[in-house]
Amino acid sequence: MTIDLDHLVQEMTAWRRDLHAHPEFGFEEQRTGAFVAAKLREFGLDEVVAGVGGTGVVGTLKRGSGNRAIALRADMDALRIPEQSEAPYRSRNPGVMHACGHDGHTAMLLGAAKLLAGEGGFDGTVRFIFQPAEEWGRGALAMLDDGVMERFPFTEIYGLHNAPGLGVGRFQTRPGAIMSAEDNFEIVLRGVGGHAARPHAGNETLVAACALVTSLQTIVSRRLSPTDIAVVSVTELITDGTRNALPGEARILGDARSFSPAVSADIEAQMRVIADGISRAYNVEHAVTYTREFVPLLNDPALTEEALGVARSLLGAENASVVSEPFTGSEDFARFLDHVPGCFVFLGNGDSAPLHNPHYDFDDAGLLHGARFHAGIVRKRLPAA
Ligand SMILES: [Zn+2]
Ligand SMILES: [Zn+2]
Repeated sequence: MTIDLDHLVQEMTAWRRDLHAHPEFGFEEQRTGAFVAAKLREFGLDEVVAGVGGTGVVGTLKRGSGNRAIALRADMDALRIPEQSEAPYRSRNPGVMHACGHDGHTAMLLGAAKLLAGEGGFDGTVRFIFQPAEEWGRGALAMLDDGVMERFPFTEIYGLHNAPGLGVGRFQTRPGAIMSAEDNFEIVLRGVGGHAARPHAGNETLVAACALVTSLQTIVSRRLSPTDIAVVSVTELITDGTRNALPGEARILGDARSFSPAVSADIEAQMRVIADGISRAYNVEHAVTYTREFVPLLNDPALTEEALGVARSLLGAENASVVSEPFTGSEDFARFLDHVPGCFVFLGNGDSAPLHNPHYDFDDAGLLHGARFHAGIVRKRLPAA
């Protein structure tokens, strides 16, 4: 059966706008998950399982006798941002909007499922993974903890994200690191607060905290190799002092970005050394909490070449390019790549507002490109006999 592409575009546009009008925050994607599961069943997939890792959905489609399986992944969650739009399909859920285009990602993967279920053209198994809570950096982990790899095995995975500023119908990716790790840290200093006129009588923490903030700047400039890309940003310094009272406690919070687990480990180790040294020098106690919210997204070089090949054959070599630098944003697709190789690509969203902006909107002109890219990967990696 041949799928009429003009009709598919109309359908994907309607789905995308319906999802856009009904955005749901991470792990609250009840309606979205039900919408996705109903569509996948309507397309005649072999198996559709909802409630994987909370509100995630996995659809399975088999053709031929091949025993290899590959996964395609989309994210479904929206953000707590009040939408500023006059579009008839604007958010009906006050304070929540699809400001990252995950409505488009979901609609494109549904379009690919309809194309592949209707037309086949591959030999093996496709897993369609619709994950919750990407923005939190928790949804992929929730699906992995719920056994997605064991229950629905696959050996490679692909995903895409729309990119404002890149022309519609253009793809970009790169082998190796493409998106950064995001680590968060909190350093608490505890001393003895007291009267602003009598600093010697206590052990206040603000001067120590200022020294610590300054010293943290040396992690990137003096500890890491000049060839490592990393950022250590102190973003908050909070004390319990007041204008005429010295603080007994100071909290320093911040965010670190890097592109390899080794660099992330070096940043944490040096932060602990500095916090310990400064605390001793200023005679205060300290506690460091260092968490890894997102791991770096590392594309498999061979599979990146395959993905570029698909994009080139769909849209021409001039519209499928390798970017020279990785992006300092983060993506929890990276969690799947801890288990199997794969590739993550960017698809142009044209001249739209930036991601996470209250005026942002996914460009429906990109829907067919994304759906055909997903289907093309399956046909390339699981070729029909
Ligand atoms: Zn986002
Ligand atoms: Zn996103």
